Amino acid sequence: MRVGCPTEIKNHEYRVGLTPESARELVLQDNEVWIQSGAGLGIGATDLEYEAAGARITDGPDPIFAECEMVVKVKEPQAEERAKLREGQLLYTYLHLAPDAPQTADLVKSGVTAIAYETVTGRNGSLPLLKPMSQVAGRMSVQAGASALEKAHGGRGVLLGGVPGVMPGKVIVIGGGVVGFNAAQMAVGLGADVTIFDRDPEVLEKVGTHFEARASTRFSNKANLDEAVCEADLVIGAVLIPGASAPKLVSRDMLKCMKPGSVLVDVAIDQGGCFETSRATTHADPTYVVDDVVHYCVANMPGAVARTSTYALNNVTLPHALRIARLGWKEAMRRDPYLAEGLNVHAGSVTYEAVATELGYDY
Ligand code: NAD
Repeated sequence: MRVGCPTEIKNHEYRVGLTPESARELVLQDNEVWIQSGAGLGIGATDLEYEAAGARITDGPDPIFAECEMVVKVKEPQAEERAKLREGQLLYTYLHLAPDAPQTADLVKSGVTAIAYETVTGRNGSLPLLKPMSQVAGRMSVQAGASALEKAHGGRGVLLGGVPGVMPGKVIVIGGGVVGFNAAQMAVGLGADVTIFDRDPEVLEKVGTHFEARASTRFSNKANLDEAVCEADLVIGAVLIPGASAPKLVSRDMLKCMKPGSVLVDVAIDQGGCFETSRATTHADPTYVVDDVVHYCVANMPGAVARTSTYALNNVTLPHALRIARLGWKEAMRRDPYLAEGLNVHAGSVTYEAVATELGYDY
């Protein structure tokens, strides 16, 4: 199969659909790989590295959209990319169609076959192609919080790990799922005093068994949260109620009991945020202060570590890409119903029920 990877053109997107290593794997399986010149520069991968992996470098995206059977990307195609997609072509990328009627209409019109990373499932209803980005955001949340706690960044001047003879910082992680688990791992690794809150007993048990005495677990109710948040140096919001906006678990009123210069990191900001005072920020200006409490609410945290994020993404997307290239998408989906869940658009129809229902397409 001829597989192509254009440069991402969405604002501030530095990731790339295929690393040189992934390109090599595809080439080793007798596929042709076309990479747009400069596509890897955001992760420090040069055209020469792709060429050494056996890929062909194209001048601009047009040859890829015109001649490749499968286009591998990271972000949803932008309007100018959608205009280049054609019937029978396979698009493999994040799409997030439900809230995006114009994109859905363009994909339907183009006749393309589109597989969305975010709806490919795994065992137990997990979303394995989303998971790495939650892992990245969870781990980054502690870095971001530690930096915001520094005096020069508006924080109260606390080192999370403390030093011999001085108490460590107190970290509260609300939500013990993928983000929360990874945040707790980092905070525990730094030597902080960590408590993880969740409402799901199975999650509390899993997290408790994993961390044993290195972190505490606590049931997430208002009384427990109020008490812990008032004492915390760093609070990380990592809750998710699938398909719903995040519940507001820290009210503006609660900020009054927090210590001046303490920090809230709201990873759940992409679902509206779990603190009443959260509003989305960017990497260019990530923090703001409300009632002496520093807020960090960046909605696309993995974008700041494009290289790590790209490699983490490729680890989960490449195995499917290799199988699709070897078998064709129809046979690959027939053999793997989890991959079949990823099919969102095919030959002029919306093929994913939730998107069709949300946007009024026949299903
Ligand atoms: P997840 O489903 O793995 O975990 C969410 C956890 O929240 C679950 O364990 C659930 O039981 C728990 N929860 C639900 N309600 C709760 C409550 N009231 N109190 C305590 N815990 C509660 O989800 P995830 O992958 O960890 O994602 C968490 C959030 O982070 C999502 O909103 C996700 O979209 C977001 N996220 C943001 C970024 C970013 O860049 N900002 C990146 C990746 C993920």
